[in-house]
Amino acid sequence: MHSPLYPWLHAEFARFHALRSQGRMPHALLISGEPGLGQGQLAMRLAQATLCHRPLDDGQACGQCAACRPFLAGAHPDFSLLTPKEKDSKDDEASKDKKDNKAKDIKVDAVREFCAGLYLSSSFQHGKVGVIEPADVMNAAAANSLLKTLEEPPAGTLIILVTSQPARLPITIRSRCQRWQVGIPERVTALAWLARQPQLAGEDPVRLLDLAEGRPLTALALAEPERLARRGRWLESVLHVLRAGGNPLSLAASQDKAEWPTLLHWSRLLLVDLIRLHGAGQVDQAVKINLVNRDYADVLAPLAARLHARELFGLYDYLLESSRLVDHPLNRELLIEELLIRFQRLGGHA
Ligand SMILES: [Zn+2]
Repeated sequence: MHSPLYPWLHAEFARFHALRSQGRMPHALLISGEPGLGQGQLAMRLAQATLCHRPLDDGQACGQCAACRPFLAGAHPDFSLLTPKEKDSKDDEASKDKKDNKAKDIKVDAVREFCAGLYLSSSFQHGKVGVIEPADVMNAAAANSLLKTLEEPPAGTLIILVTSQPARLPITIRSRCQRWQVGIPERVTALAWLARQPQLAGEDPVRLLDLAEGRPLTALALAEPERLARRGRWLESVLHVLRAGGNPLSLAASQDKAEWPTLLHWSRLLLVDLIRLHGAGQVDQAVKINLVNRDYADVLAPLAARLHARELFGLYDYLLESSRLVDHPLNRELLIEELLIRFQRLGGHA
C-alpha cells in the first residue's frame, strides 16, 4: 500500500481529477516548485492514478488493482520513470572531483529509450505514462530528443516532467507542457503534517519549518541531528569571521563543495535575521521571537546593532546573485571564499 498523498498536494491532485473527468488532460505536464515540496510524489501519484483500473471517487489510485500492484512494485509495463544515472567513477582524485562537480545527468540514449517505450502499445489499455525527474538535468541532445516526442505525442500518453529549476529547460520544451507550479503550503497544513512525523524526534516543528522557509520535506530532513549540527558549525564559523576572526580562505577550502546550496541558504537566513534586528534598533522581544535563528538571538542582537544597513543590504544582494550561480559547480570554492570575505568585510565596519 502506498503512503498518503502529502496534504498540501490535494489541490493539485483535484485539478488533475477535474481535467481528467472532463477529458481535458494534456499530453505533457511540467511540475515545478522549490525543492522540498514533494513534486516527485505528486508526479508518481498522477501516473498511478492514470493507470489505475479502479480509481477512488476523488480520482486517486486504489492501490490494489491489477495495475496498482505492479506499479507499486516498480514493474508496470505501461509506466517508465527516467532519472539520472550516476556516472561511472574511478576511485582517483580527478574523477572524485568531477563527481562533486557534476555527478548526474540524463543523456540522449536514455531519453530515446524512454520515448520509444511510449510508442509501444499499452498492455492494459489505460494509456502509457512516463515521468522524468529531475528533467532539468537532461543535456541538450537529450532535451532535443524529447522535444520530438512532445511535438507529436503518441495517443493516450502522459509525460510528466518534474523540476525545481524550470528555467534550465529549453523554452521549446516548456512551451509544449502544461505548467503546474507547486507553491509553499499553508503554514498550518505544513505544521500539522510535520508534527505527526515520527522522524521529528522531539525537534520543534515551528523552528524546523522556519529554517526550511516553509518547505515541509526540507524541514523534516532537518530533523536529522547531523543536519542541524552542520548548520550550527557553519553559523559559528560565519560569526567568527564576522568578528574578524578566522581565515575566510582556509575556512572556504575546508567546506564540502556539494554543500554549497545549503551553506548559501543558511547564510541568507542569517543575514535576514541581522537585517531585521538592525532595523528594529533597540532590540525588543517581539523581533527576537520572530527570528529564524532564534537559538542565536542573544549573539545576533548586539552584533546587528553595530553593523551598517547599506553593507547589510549589499551583502544580501550578493547572496541573491549567488543563488543564481548555485548550479555552476566549478565556481563553488570561489563563491564560498567570496561570501566569507564579504562577511568579514561586513564585520570590519562594526
Ligand atoms: Zn488501482
